[in-house]
Amino acid sequence: MNPAAYLRPRSITEVSQCLQRLPEAQLLAGGQSLLAAWRLGLCKPTHFVDLQDVPDLKDIRIEGDALWVGAMCTHAQIAQSPIIATQFPMLSALAHGIADAQIRNVGTIGGALANNDPAACWPTGVLAMHADIVTNERVINADAFFQGLFTTALQEGEWILGLRFPRVACARYVKFEQAASRFALVGVAVMRSMDGEVRVAVTGLGQGVTRWYEAETALTAAWHVEALNKLDFDVSNAQSDIHASAQYRAHLVAVLCRRAVAANTGESGAMPARTSVAHAPVAPSKARIQGSHLLQATPEYVWHQLLDPAVLQRCIPGCTAMTRTQPEHYQAVVKIGLGPVSATFATQVALFPEAPNHASAPTRCRLVLSGQAGALGEGKATVLVQLHAIQDPQTQSIHTRLDWQASPEVTGKLAQLGNRFMDATAHSLSQQFFNRFSAGLSGHTPTKASSFFTYALTVKVKQWFQRFFER
Ligand SMILES: Cc1cc2nc3c(=O)[nH]c(=O)nc-3n(C[C@H](O)[C@H](O)[C@H](O)COP(=O)(O)OP(=O)(O)OC[C@H]3O[C@@H](n4cnc5c(N)ncnc54)[C@H](O)[C@@H]3O)c2cc1C
Repeated sequence: MNPAAYLRPRSITEVSQCLQRLPEAQLLAGGQSLLAAWRLGLCKPTHFVDLQDVPDLKDIRIEGDALWVGAMCTHAQIAQSPIIATQFPMLSALAHGIADAQIRNVGTIGGALANNDPAACWPTGVLAMHADIVTNERVINADAFFQGLFTTALQEGEWILGLRFPRVACARYVKFEQAASRFALVGVAVMRSMDGEVRVAVTGLGQGVTRWYEAETALTAAWHVEALNKLDFDVSNAQSDIHASAQYRAHLVAVLCRRAVAANTGESGAMPARTSVAHAPVAPSKARIQGSHLLQATPEYVWHQLLDPAVLQRCIPGCTAMTRTQPEHYQAVVKIGLGPVSATFATQVALFPEAPNHASAPTRCRLVLSGQAGALGEGKATVLVQLHAIQDPQTQSIHTRLDWQASPEVTGKLAQLGNRFMDATAHSLSQQFFNRFSAGLSGHTPTKASSFFTYALTVKVKQWFQRFFER
């Protein structure tokens, strides 16, 4: 546990000044997540900036047609507020269902939102309610605020003052609890606005809170449980871990959504008879995470970009340095800051081309990554990447479908975070890598089929000459 200084500012301005002056300081709300991460050595703030003494952050009040809840309101304060219980009962029930009395007395709504844990309840309620998050700099709508696992729109030096919830016709949050912690294995919040628009938000899937758009459309058209009869939640949006399979989680989304609607309409929320699902939690398979991306460039171009260290440095999230140690072996420094974890990894990246530049078969390579984060432990991952040439039937252009599979492993303190966190983190980082990689390719015009094959031939000949002279 690294030592950290303790500061207790008394105004919003003083808090902002602390954050500007001390870039490695962290805000301290109830400390429920932050202090646990600090004690494990997962983050090393130089200072804790405690928000306890800042006035207004604990206010609950009606502002015109909206409800204001200060960032430092505890779950217990929200659960016990008569204004919230009578005018915004969904928020009251959600707060009441969080963990146990000790956690509710200390944990805050601001800390929960800034943390954006993928199994937390507040992000779901706030997203379904279409609330605004008010920071020291701007107002961010919930749709823009939650940006995936442990990630929010908050910028450096920006922090949450409170939230504004609009008045709605009705809302309900239902969760299926993880028995040990009472975090949501899956939780669903359904809200119907004054003009009949329905929003459905889901937590517990592994990637952070998300909306179920198909259910929203169906329920906006017909505010009845029956409107959900033909809908299944897309299982590819859920992840498996030791607690539940992705299929089971997807099934729970449908079940809980029906219950949330039924609680508002007075109907039965039972599932229609057609549904069958594998209920048993499944052990994660060897290749636990995977993805597929359609890239606007030829496989050859994508291949060369993948082997370019400058491109890798730009695309690997948190990569601050990358040097080539030998052909296709790199040494990188990668800083990962996700929710409670803030760790710098000395990382080795090795690329093993398995079937390079073949015009008729998929191009394939293996990336072996291993990173050491000092006392925190080590992380390893083998990523198999395959590039398939895809011809656009209309333009004849050649594009690339990039499929990847990864099996990450961690040891040491990092392993204490468990599979749920690790898989979700690895998935989120991979997603960020391929999103940046695709964005970097967007300026490249795909080649027409004929020139693609000429290009492939040229590359082959070049390689043959290179190898010939290397001998
Ligand atoms: C055993 C256990 C069970 C739990 N069960 C549930 C559950 O069922 N459902 C659920 O939703 N939650 C649950 N929680 C989460 C808990 O209730 C807290 O909401 C959460 O841990 C955040 O804690 P905190 O408010 O004390 O914030 P802290 O731990 O103090 O801070 C968390 C993070 O937010 C930042 N932060 C704090 N305040 C602000 C602010 N105003 N602006 C910007 N950044 C800020 C901090 O710097 C830190 O990075 C559980 C927690 C535990 C320990």
